[in-house]
Amino acid sequence: MPANRPIIITIDGPAGTGKSTVARMLAAQLGLDFLDTGAMYRAAAAIMIEKEYTKDQVGELVSEVIGADLHFDWSQDPPTILAWDTPIDHRIRSQEVTDAVSFVATLSELRQHLVRKQRIIFAQHPHLVTEGRDQGSVVFPDAAIKFYLDADPEIRARRRIDQLGLDPATMSLETMCERIIERDRIDSSRDDGPLVCPDDAIRIDTSGLGIEAVVDLMAKHTLARVVDLPEIDS
Ligand code: C5P
Repeated sequence: MPANRPIIITIDGPAGTGKSTVARMLAAQLGLDFLDTGAMYRAAAAIMIEKEYTKDQVGELVSEVIGADLHFDWSQDPPTILAWDTPIDHRIRSQEVTDAVSFVATLSELRQHLVRKQRIIFAQHPHLVTEGRDQGSVVFPDAAIKFYLDADPEIRARRRIDQLGLDPATMSLETMCERIIERDRIDSSRDDGPLVCPDDAIRIDTSGLGIEAVVDLMAKHTLARVVDLPEIDS
């Protein structure tokens, strides 16, 4: 990849499409940094739970999250997220956090704060693969390369169960599928930064594709586009 100019690749899409995994692999393959923006919303949800804020205490929650100074430790692979300078990665993937995060992600003031942080991260890491729900549509509308990943809900539910190592006896495919569809509904219908496929994104249905095949496809698209990118003076 060209070292003399900034480049950002955005990857958006619903839960369970393999965004984090492919984003991380693509970043490693192309020598770019990797940003998991879902971890920032999850960290905010973990703070809401830990500090016992109710859904009515939005102002207090946003101030608390601002005060926590969420940031990543870039010396780790993948980068780990910290709040109040303390690693919180181990707390952000619980079911409790997953249940709370959709609400937290509807809060415009909080989104504005995290969007600002994401833009600062790009300024500091100008060779970046970033994944989330609004990266190509809102945060980096001028990104050189945008991807939108999708897959059948049932396949996404199965992947989530496997990824989290859940016991099918305690979490059925049907229940996980319902949860994923509900999270998609909330993510797609909020006013601020809803999940959408940007017009200029390359859409990939990962239902029948393995991770390596998806990464290969994305790397090919990226390298084909990079040749046409304009030079940016720095
Ligand atoms: O990707 P992940 O499942 O970790 O994201 C958790 C939640 O964070 C999503 O369901 C969504 O509500 C929110 N999110 C968001 N915008 C992003 C990234 C994540 O609203 N850019």
